[in-house]
Amino acid sequence: MVDWEGPLSEAYDRALTYLEALPERRVGPRATAAELHEALGGPLPTGATDPREVVEHLAKGVDDGLLPSGSGRFFGFVFGGATPASLAADWLTTVWDQNAGLYAASPAAAVVEDVTARWLVELFGLPAGTSVGFVTGAQMANFTALAAARHEVLRRAGWDVERQGLSGSPRIRVLAGAERHDTIDRALRFLGLGTDCIEPIPVDDQGRMRADALAEALRENGRGAVPTIVCAQAGNVNTGAFDPVAEVCETAHAHGAWVHVDGAFGIWARVSSGLRQLVDGVEQADSWATDAHKWLNVPYDSGLVFCAHPEPHRAAMSIRAAYLIQDENGERDSLDYNPEFSRRARGIPVYAAIRALGREGIAEIVDRCHAMAERFADHLRTADVEILNDVVLNQVLVRFDDDDAITRRVVTEVQNEGTCWMSGTTWQGKAAMRISVSNWTTGPEDIDRSAEAVLRCLQQVRG
Ligand SMILES: *Cc1c(COP(=O)(O)O)cnc(C)c1O
Repeated sequence: MVDWEGPLSEAYDRALTYLEALPERRVGPRATAAELHEALGGPLPTGATDPREVVEHLAKGVDDGLLPSGSGRFFGFVFGGATPASLAADWLTTVWDQNAGLYAASPAAAVVEDVTARWLVELFGLPAGTSVGFVTGAQMANFTALAAARHEVLRRAGWDVERQGLSGSPRIRVLAGAERHDTIDRALRFLGLGTDCIEPIPVDDQGRMRADALAEALRENGRGAVPTIVCAQAGNVNTGAFDPVAEVCETAHAHGAWVHVDGAFGIWARVSSGLRQLVDGVEQADSWATDAHKWLNVPYDSGLVFCAHPEPHRAAMSIRAAYLIQDENGERDSLDYNPEFSRRARGIPVYAAIRALGREGIAEIVDRCHAMAERFADHLRTADVEILNDVVLNQVLVRFDDDDAITRRVVTEVQNEGTCWMSGTTWQGKAAMRISVSNWTTGPEDIDRSAEAVLRCLQQVRG
């Protein structure tokens, strides 16, 4: 009999040890790259090793190189952690090892994803009938949505891009805020449109696309039907600010454009009664990208793409092959909505997360993260530290002594100190520290300890 128990119980013990130590663990890696190579490297194994030993060796070898991003005092990038239900469901997703591309390859995965898709559409208040894809992240969600957009705006111009490609096609205008996320540009590269197709729309001091500037750019379309895609953003990765989505949709639709919204984390504001006005009108867009691995705190990797028009979504993604069994009875074949062929049933942990939290639990996480971001900003302001953004959501941009070098040194110092972890950025030409509160466990004590640590590091840097 195969020994599953040995490696799995080893993994279970180590998982619990890791998770239970997380709240007090140093928030930063402890090993250098050289030390990690030393611990994990060596020649290509030629013979077998006992699986339990492999798990043990691996867990010991990586430990000091882990960035404990599941900590309540991890404020780097926009990461989020993992809730118990989503993490446990993610384990089982691996155990079941379903190929979730086709209904026939996993009826269970197809139905779980179908149910989850409908929950998400309702949660975000998107139009009934919106199609959903469970992808790896907002990068691939942006890619998938923009593929659907590319299909549709060219179809209206009498061009079949899936068959004819882009050589000789009508030109597509892509209008996107100057502070869009870089994954929009990368998606356009993948789609053969190239970054030169982007016409950046000026933004205000918070990074919000200016609706008047968009209207002016769209006027150039004149009366002709120019294939046009507008990329709006719900939640700027630095400031958390939202483009005026309702106005953007109205203006763009008046010119026949497709509106895509990158709401990687910001669209979750829809779930909060206090914050939902930030995303008013978002349901009028044509497609949306978001993440489950950020604010929903589902383990990596888990992104979501939504399309108000299932036809272009399917036209851009679908694939038929003679040897496949594709469902004729309306059950979900995810390869109609995803760029992957074989794929992990990554909707399962999303299902578990939503089921465990419910709408109220999700709203509570969003509201608490917002309150904790405000609390962090308040602590720093009280100590005369400059906050560069309006803290409308979960992002805080901090600048020290109005000085790039000091700001960067404080970021480095904080990372070395280990109480909390955040990274730096450049915002409108100025160096800044980014604080992103995205973890489901972060509470007031985490914020107070972290703010104290930041101020300690500032004193250190000032000498
Ligand atoms: C994080 C983020 C992305 C990219 O998401 P991934 O999940 O890393 O692929 C895109 N847009 C915005 C606004 C983001 O914050």
